[in-house]
Amino acid sequence: MTTADVVIVGGGIEGAAAAWALSQRGVTNVVVLERSTVGSGMTGKSSGIVRCHYGVSSLAAMATVGLEVFEKSEEIFGADIGFRQTGYVVGVGENDTESLRNSLAAQRAVGVQTEEIDASEVARLWPHADLTPFGAFAWEARGGYGDAYQTAQAFAVAARAAGVRIRQGANVIRLLIDGDRVTGVRLADGTEITAHTVVVATGVWTQEFLVPYGIDVPIRVVREQLVTIAPGVAIGQVPVFSDLVSLQYIRPELGGELLFGNSDLSDVEDANPDDYLNRATEDFVQDTVERVGTRFPGFTDAAITGSYAGCYDVTPDWNPVISRTDVEGLVVAAGFSGHGFKIAPAVGRLIADLVVEGRSSDPRIPETDFRLSRFAEGDLLKSPYPYSGAGQMR
Ligand SMILES: Cc1cc2nc3c(=O)[nH]c(=O)nc-3n(C[C@H](O)[C@H](O)[C@H](O)COP(=O)(O)OP(=O)(O)OC[C@H]3O[C@@H](n4cnc5c(N)ncnc54)[C@H](O)[C@@H]3O)c2cc1C
Repeated sequence: MTTADVVIVGGGIEGAAAAWALSQRGVTNVVVLERSTVGSGMTGKSSGIVRCHYGVSSLAAMATVGLEVFEKSEEIFGADIGFRQTGYVVGVGENDTESLRNSLAAQRAVGVQTEEIDASEVARLWPHADLTPFGAFAWEARGGYGDAYQTAQAFAVAARAAGVRIRQGANVIRLLIDGDRVTGVRLADGTEITAHTVVVATGVWTQEFLVPYGIDVPIRVVREQLVTIAPGVAIGQVPVFSDLVSLQYIRPELGGELLFGNSDLSDVEDANPDDYLNRATEDFVQDTVERVGTRFPGFTDAAITGSYAGCYDVTPDWNPVISRTDVEGLVVAAGFSGHGFKIAPAVGRLIADLVVEGRSSDPRIPETDFRLSRFAEGDLLKSPYPYSGAGQMR
């Protein structure tokens, strides 16, 4: 039996960010319990896109907090965490131009540096793209992509250096609860750790983990497929491109390849996170070939070089739960719905706020936005400026 002030279950990027943020606040009697290794869950599958383009203001603000940490990573962590500031461009169709402009105004109001640019400027950034079907574009010079795995390691290393204990191979089999308050956790090896606060950051495994305690975090686990392509032409330095007409995102890879991901969230595929097909299906590959061919007609010699898949933990509004629960001392951070990398530094900070103060320290990021009870209340966290087809994530 050991004791800690805070136990964090799950050593993905959110658990690691929480440990780091707590250590920054002087809370270092913290134990992170990860049943495998740090970052080995869905964090290791992340596309790592970094942008602040969110219609939900609190998320836009969280993304700016994340960006500031990524930009200063050398200074903060003393290491390259894989952040590549390529810039980020998002293009929408005619029917979404008003939403885009309204969203940009709301983003600027919380400090996002973003601007509308025209097709001729996008053509300079992405010379191979057919831009004719787009109605408007937004540009974030500070956007790009990162490496979620490396970033999780950096959080863990920094937290450990501050005194946090990180135990890998530590499978938590149950919460210890006395009356209406959590008192600790039990591990598969029979040991128990007592703590006044337990943070559950178990990603796609969260719903199942919490059901025995009457806590329903409504999470649907869905499979997402990624395809890498050698474009067959020299593309030079290109930014991340979110194509909300063909509903795909394109990210440069080191070495000249491109990563294609899906932004069509209208027809998702349920999955078992412990047993899912870790490659793209023939249908998905075919669909990618068509979408790529439509957007990049000059890629006549393109070749598929690989594919893989990961799972999203999707809530009913495609936004996370970062919340206290009815069990005193129990905090949940899960349901990141495929966009939890870029906001992770802010998630860690909000968790630390909830643990230490019970409320958010950043007025742009009210903790109530992410409360678990919003689903039961029917008060979902949705963008006021949705885009057709891909609204939920932006
Ligand atoms: C394919 C894909 C692409 C993505 N692309 C982007 C993107 O471009 N931009 C972006 O911002 N976000 C993106 N995301 C989302 C982002 O990567 C995730 O939201 C984030 O990594 C989730 O981190 P996590 O810590 O919540 O979960 P995880 O990384 O899954 O960590 C949870 C951890 O909990 C551990 N665990 C579970 N149960 C227990 C237990 N009982 N005891 C101990 N440990 C336990 C697991 O082993 C796991 O390591 C993407 C996600 C995927 C899958």
